[in-house]
Amino acid sequence: MDKNIRICIIGGGPAGLSAGMYLEKKGYENYTILERNDHVGGKCHSPYYNGRRYEMGAIMGVPSYYAVHDVEEFCGITHDGPQLNRNYKDRNGNVIEPFEPKKNLTKIPRLLKMKKQITELGRILETKYKGYDINGHRGVADGRYDGFAVTPEREPVSGTNENLKDLAMPFKDWCIMNNVELTQDVWIGPFTSFGYGYFDEIPAAYVLKYLDFQTCMNFVRINLWTWKNGTQFIWESLNDHLKNPARLNAQISKVERKDGKVFVTVNGETEEYDKLIVTSPLQFFPEYADAREDEEKYFSKIEYERYDVLAVETKPEDHPEISYYVFDNMTPDRLGHLMVYYRRWRDTKDQVITTYALRKHKNSAEIPYEECKQTVLEDLKIMKNPASNVINEQSWYYFPHVFSDDYASGWYDDVEAMQGKYDTFYAGEIMSFGDMDETAEYSRELVERFF
Ligand SMILES: Cc1cc2nc3c(=O)[nH]c(=O)nc-3n(C[C@H](O)[C@H](O)[C@H](O)COP(=O)(O)OP(=O)(O)OC[C@H]3O[C@@H](n4cnc5c(N)ncnc54)[C@H](O)[C@@H]3O)c2cc1C
Repeated sequence: MDKNIRICIIGGGPAGLSAGMYLEKKGYENYTILERNDHVGGKCHSPYYNGRRYEMGAIMGVPSYYAVHDVEEFCGITHDGPQLNRNYKDRNGNVIEPFEPKKNLTKIPRLLKMKKQITELGRILETKYKGYDINGHRGVADGRYDGFAVTPEREPVSGTNENLKDLAMPFKDWCIMNNVELTQDVWIGPFTSFGYGYFDEIPAAYVLKYLDFQTCMNFVRINLWTWKNGTQFIWESLNDHLKNPARLNAQISKVERKDGKVFVTVNGETEEYDKLIVTSPLQFFPEYADAREDEEKYFSKIEYERYDVLAVETKPEDHPEISYYVFDNMTPDRLGHLMVYYRRWRDTKDQVITTYALRKHKNSAEIPYEECKQTVLEDLKIMKNPASNVINEQSWYYFPHVFSDDYASGWYDDVEAMQGKYDTFYAGEIMSFGDMDETAEYSRELVERFF
C-alpha cells in the first residue's frame, strides 16, 4: 500500500492510539485519530483524587501484555503502580479463604478435584485445543486457527483443529463437556467480577483467549502490572509520542464512502481520506455512517455488558484493609450486587475505593442503574466498609461480544472477510476481546495484515 495514503482512525482509546503507533512504525505517517472526548484513553480512565490517580476503568495487566509493552517501550514508561492484593468475603461480609483446604475441611475433596481439573484443563488446552489462545477469532468457528502466537516473538501461526469449534459454546457447557467444570471456580474471579458476563452465556472462546492458562495463573499468583499514574497514563503517554496526536472533541456527524474515498464530517467540516479504521463501538457505526447492508446485519448482532463502577469515600475506620472479591455475588441470581471492591493505595486511607457490579444477563431483565447503585451501597454496609460519599460513578458500555449461535455460525469470519471492503477496517474490543492488550494487539495485527 502507498505509504502516503490518508488514514482516518475513529477512537482515541487503546485500539485507535496503538493503530496509530503501529502504522507510524511501518512508515505510514499520514493518519488522523479522531476522539470525541476531551481526553484519550477510552475505558482506561484514571481521574485524580487528593493528588493521586484512581481507576474508574482498566486497572491491571499481566506480563504477557506484549502490545502494551510495545507502547511502554515506545514512550519510555513502565508499569510502576502499587502492588495488587486481595482477600475474599462471603455475601454476609465474613472474610473467607475459599481455596485454603485447612480452612475448608469439608470442602477438601472438592478442592482436590478442582486442582486435578486445573491440571487437566492446562493439558487439553495445549493438545485438544491447540491454537485456542491466539489473538482474534479468525477461523475458530470453522475449526481453524490463524493469527499470531501469544509469545514475545508473536510469530504467525495457522492450522486446522476441528475441536476449536467447541469454543463457540458457553464456557459453562464447554467445561462440563470436558469434565473440568470445577475450574470455573478459579476462572470466574478475573472474568465475571471484571465485568465480562456469566459463564452460562459467554462463549468459551472469549474466556479462554483472555484467560489463557498462563494468564489465569498470573492472576492466581497475583503476578500483575499496575501503573502509578493509572492506565490512562499509558495512552496519554502514547498520544504525546505520536507524530499525529489525537484530535480531541471531534464530533463525527457523517461518514460517507464513495469513489474509493472516505468522507468524514467532523465538527461540521467534511474531510477526505483514503482509508478508515473504526475502533469505536461498531454497534453504533450505522448511526453516523453510510453503513452497507452487511455492516448493518452483522453489527446489529453485537451484545454488550453493563458494568457499573462507583468511586466512594469512607471514614478512615471503615476503610477496607485490602481489596475484596465476593464470589457469592458473581452468579446471575445475584445480578446487580457488589462483586469486587478495590483498594488501590495501601499506604493511606484518604483515597477512594472503587466498586464493581454487573446488571445485565441474557435471561433476565436489565437492572436499572439507580437500583444497582443502591444495592452496591447496601452491600458495602454488609461488608462492614460503608461508603460515606460517592464521588464518581460510571456505567460502562462494556465488553462487546456475540453469543454462541452467532459465534458458531461464523460471525467473525464473515466480518473479517469484510475488512477493507468499503475502504474500511474494523478494530477495537469486539474484534478480539475487551482488554487493553488484546485490542492493541489486534490493531498491530491489522496493520501487519493490511497495510
Ligand atoms: C471498569 C473497567 C475495568 C477494566 N479493567 C481492565 C483491566 O484491568 N485490564 C485490561 O486490560 N482492561 C480492562 N478494561 C478494559 C479496557 O479498558 C478496554 O478493553 C480497552 O480500553 C478497549 O480499548 P478500545 O480502544 O477498543 O475501546 P475504548 O477504550 O472504549 O476506546 C474507544 C474510544 O473511542 C471513542 N469513541 C467512541 N465513539 C466515538 C465516535 N463516534 N467518534 C470518535 N470517538 C469515539 C471513545 O470516546 C473512546 O475514547 C476495563 C474496562 C473497564 C470499564
